[in-house]
Amino acid sequence: MTNPAAANTPTIPLDASSPAPARKRRPPRRVEVIRIQVLSPAMRRITLRGQELEGFEPTAPASYLKLIFPEPGQLEPTRPLPDGPRPVSMRTYTPLAVRPETLEVDVDFVLHGEGPASTWATQAQVGQVLFLMGPGPGYPLDTSAAQHLLIADDSALPAVETILAALPASASVQVLLEVIDAAEERPLQSAAQLDVQWLARGGNNRAAGLPLENALRALQTVPPEARIYLACEAAAMRRIRRLLIDELGASPSQIVGRGYWKLDVVNHPDHDYGEDA
Ligand SMILES: Cc1cc2nc3c(=O)[nH]c(=O)nc-3n(C[C@H](O)[C@H](O)[C@H](O)COP(=O)(O)OP(=O)(O)OC[C@H]3O[C@@H](n4cnc5c(N)ncnc54)[C@H](O)[C@@H]3O)c2cc1C
Repeated sequence: MTNPAAANTPTIPLDASSPAPARKRRPPRRVEVIRIQVLSPAMRRITLRGQELEGFEPTAPASYLKLIFPEPGQLEPTRPLPDGPRPVSMRTYTPLAVRPETLEVDVDFVLHGEGPASTWATQAQVGQVLFLMGPGPGYPLDTSAAQHLLIADDSALPAVETILAALPASASVQVLLEVIDAAEERPLQSAAQLDVQWLARGGNNRAAGLPLENALRALQTVPPEARIYLACEAAAMRRIRRLLIDELGASPSQIVGRGYWKLDVVNHPDHDYGEDA
């Protein structure tokens, strides 16, 4: 399995309260499900393959792609037109592993309940078709930094894995990961030195972020030079960002925050950096 290579690709920080600037839409690529792996009760790894994946090569970890799912009653989604309306059933996911030589990409789906993406992943079968767009920009990883703090829930666990894969052996990394329960834990691979804490949220999504907040408070401080990547439920991300700054002495410039989903909100935007917090 190859992971997206590390690169210091700069991203443009965007404020979720301002409209996203018009982005050049990449052409949709038709892909087919070729493999489904049950990783844990709430996580499916789905491998997509297609000739149109040629040239799909993310250059930074924690980058993203867009998947377009069939509408109810459709066997296959409609190919979006370059200037057509935004497809309703389009959601944002992480290219966990990309294998250009076989034109494959692995995507890990949290099965959280209802939603076009989660519902589709629950019933996914080999041979089904999706459209994929991207890649979008990822985390501007500073591979020269000695210390990293990665704070994420299950939706950003694939993103964290791509960051871990890109870190050098010289890096020391504290990882806080919030999942439903111990059945969702999995081995993490990295050349870096890892200190990993798995934190159980239980089945109540309304508790999203609380285990991460409690674990951070217990740390009492964060290393002044640490690079901090924070990705989870949007309101929790804002609370944790404030906690890092107000209680743990982090500076805003150390933190890259991302709201990956939002409680009670359908299709939360992909450019929520929480800098309005
Ligand atoms: C850059 C980026 C990368 C991402 N990568 C991944 C990835 O690799 N794997 C992954 O699983 N997710 C990932 N996500 C999150 C994913 O885009 C959202 O969870 C998305 O809302 C799922 O779409 P849906 O159709 O299932 O639900 P939606 O139709 O968007 O939402 C329906 C309901 O489900 C709730 N909901 C949505 N997501 C979750 C969740 N994770 N847990 C609990 N409740 C939820 C919403 O609050 C809403 O009430 C990523 C998000 C971003 C911004």
